[in-house]
Amino acid sequence: MNNLNVVVNKIQDILAQAKITTFELPQIVVVGEQSSGKSSVLESIVKMDFLPRGNNIVTRRPLILQLNKIQTYKKEKKKSSSSKRNEINKEKEKEKTQDQPWGEFLHKKGKKYYNFEKIRQEIQDETDRIAKGKEISSKPIRLSISSPDTVNLTLIDLPGLTNNPILNQKKDLPERIYKMVVQYIKNPKSLILCVIPANIDIANSRAYKLAKEIDPRGERTLGILTKIDLMDEGTNARDILFGKVLPLKYGYVPVVNRSQKQIKKNISVKESIKLEKIFFQNHQSYKDISKRCGTKYLSKRLSELFTKRMEIFLPEIRKKVTLFRIKWEEELKTFEQSKIEGNNSTFLMKLIFEFSKKNSDLINGVDLFED
Ligand code: GDP
Ligand code: MG
Repeated sequence: MNNLNVVVNKIQDILAQAKITTFELPQIVVVGEQSSGKSSVLESIVKMDFLPRGNNIVTRRPLILQLNKIQTYKKEKKKSSSSKRNEINKEKEKEKTQDQPWGEFLHKKGKKYYNFEKIRQEIQDETDRIAKGKEISSKPIRLSISSPDTVNLTLIDLPGLTNNPILNQKKDLPERIYKMVVQYIKNPKSLILCVIPANIDIANSRAYKLAKEIDPRGERTLGILTKIDLMDEGTNARDILFGKVLPLKYGYVPVVNRSQKQIKKNISVKESIKLEKIFFQNHQSYKDISKRCGTKYLSKRLSELFTKRMEIFLPEIRKKVTLFRIKWEEELKTFEQSKIEGNNSTFLMKLIFEFSKKNSDLINGVDLFED
């Protein structure tokens, strides 16, 4: 996620300097058929292993995943006199916890999960609480993950598109999933990751059709070809990659995610990314284009698209900065002069903070993009 990291952090810095910390950045939404590898792709983007996976319909509620970068601040060095040693050890323990990634669900506010296996379990349990059995629900699960080595970004995992209601499911299920997906990808700030498994007949891809419908000019759609390793021997994905089948303006990135077997063998996401690189470098059909393949390249492409999207929204951001300033100045005037003079800069900082909280509607963009 290095490239993405740099771009997003730069944008965040600029927004933070302008005191616009709540501006909504583009979201990344995955669209694809059931078991096409959507959750696996998201996991490899964030390089963490915590989403329920498997065949059949696993993702049955939208998962809005808010990634937050946490600052790790270094403690001042203290002389280690014996009286202070205990205190220092305590500080070290505290620091360790601060460096550890943790997750928090909106529906369990205040409870920090340091064990990502438990996060996966809670996603499953919370899915079942609202969508029993094999049902689906459009009520999202909101999970925030805070980590020192992530970026401030929103990723959305969605139920997979399908044609056939599985046994015991209601007949209108495919239609309901379709509507749910449309609701998320029609947001102009969404980057659409159109996930297509390479090992099936891709010509009929519903994900492609839908992405084309919602983003006809292909300005915010990136194709991802999963399961390259599962293609029939003697076939390859070159025609698709070179835009001869189902063309997309920004093209496709081929990836090899973890297979169910590898997951059972406890191969981590990070290890699998290394194996993926070796796969493309050694494969007869891809060795000449291996630099354009795999998760690392996907992250680079995402950051490019991300920047392009941000450029479009820059005038909006500028407008918001101006609005914000005018409002803030008005707000300041409403405070008695003595109150401001009598306090130090901390008070002013607090005022800015309170104000930005109160006016988050003004600056978070929802008002401008509703249709
Ligand atoms: P989703 O339903 O679209 O979210 O798909 P998942 O990410 O849950 O993946 C479905 C199944 O396909 C899982 O068992 C994954 O291990 C497997 N899978 C996903 N991508 C690949 C891939 O590139 N290669 C292989 N061999 N298996 C994959
Ligand atoms: Mg899934």
